[in-house]
Amino acid sequence: MYAPAGVKTDAKKVPVPDRMRAWVLGDPEQLILTDKPVPVPARAEVLVRIDAVAICATDLDVIKSGPPALIKGGLPFNKNWTPGHEYMGTVAALGPGVDEFAIGDRITVEIHAGCGQCKRCRMGMYTSCLNYGLNYGEVDKGHRANGFTTDGGFAEYAVNNINTLIKIADTMSDEEATLVVTAGTSMYGLTELGGLIAGESVVVIGPGPIGLLGVAVAKALGAYPVFLTGTRDARLQKGRELGADHVINVTKENAVEAVRRLNGGKGVDYVVECSGAPDAINEAGRMLNRGGKICLAAFPHDPVLIDVAHLVRNNIYIYGIRGEGKSATHRAEVFMREKRFDATKIHTHTFMLEDLPEAIRYARDRVEDAIKVVVKMRDAA
Ligand SMILES: [Zn+2]
Ligand SMILES: [Zn+2]
Repeated sequence: MYAPAGVKTDAKKVPVPDRMRAWVLGDPEQLILTDKPVPVPARAEVLVRIDAVAICATDLDVIKSGPPALIKGGLPFNKNWTPGHEYMGTVAALGPGVDEFAIGDRITVEIHAGCGQCKRCRMGMYTSCLNYGLNYGEVDKGHRANGFTTDGGFAEYAVNNINTLIKIADTMSDEEATLVVTAGTSMYGLTELGGLIAGESVVVIGPGPIGLLGVAVAKALGAYPVFLTGTRDARLQKGRELGADHVINVTKENAVEAVRRLNGGKGVDYVVECSGAPDAINEAGRMLNRGGKICLAAFPHDPVLIDVAHLVRNNIYIYGIRGEGKSATHRAEVFMREKRFDATKIHTHTFMLEDLPEAIRYARDRVEDAIKVVVKMRDAA
């Protein structure tokens, strides 16, 4: 029976076994279903019984090549380490002193707890923690990024810092709850880092999950007009359903010209770049009005040529986002709770935990136009 010293459990509400099923990463692209001890929460931590986890493009990168995962200072291969980071579940046990949550609470999670003591963490930019990956041996600063530097969500249980937990409405399904952190990432890029206010104009380049929810969040924040550009009509149609005022298929028309024409001959205030296309920064720069801002949420794998002179002469701001921050995820959950947009439109497929490799194939190869693939731990009771 699971009963670690100092940890509060409630076997009637949420029984916890001693061991759990967990996928671990072997060599690149090699996932192995194994058996691990259920982890033990420390001070300011809880044990989460994972109920559902979404697959993210970053998971696919990590499983294939390693970064940005960083386990014990190195690549994550063959370290008995569990990937997966966009999960939700039920609070199953409380670490010493935790009274902020109760056993049985339904929650979704942010990824980064940060060390809590560096300059960036103190600013609320825990995603950019200066002690990233330092959570072991003599360099242990307590940093946690579940599914990147510590065990993640392709398992039945995980330990989470209380600062990474967001209580969710009972009306929100498990599948929808896995999407809160994606919406929170878009929110962080637009508001905390970008400073977007109602009535400003936004272009989202690239209708992947962050781009599509970027459209939804921008609309809910009062942005106008909101544009979405992409190459596939089915994805652009999703963007319309999530609130885009204009969609532009870049295989049919020049995106810069179309944005300017549809915006009364003017540039826009923000571009959120979610495509990773090599020329996307230059296109974004030409879509903006002077003093506009580019939020980079994706990147090309090789270095690219940038027209810096255009950016300088036009006073254009560029900033990258690495995931969520400043509790933006909490505010995204409120939008979803209040049904300001329907994030479930991007959830396309569901698999069981034991079928993770097939779920990953769907996400990677976009089988049946998969957008967000969700893995559930157990059949609905
Ligand atoms: Zn992700
Ligand atoms: Zn830190």
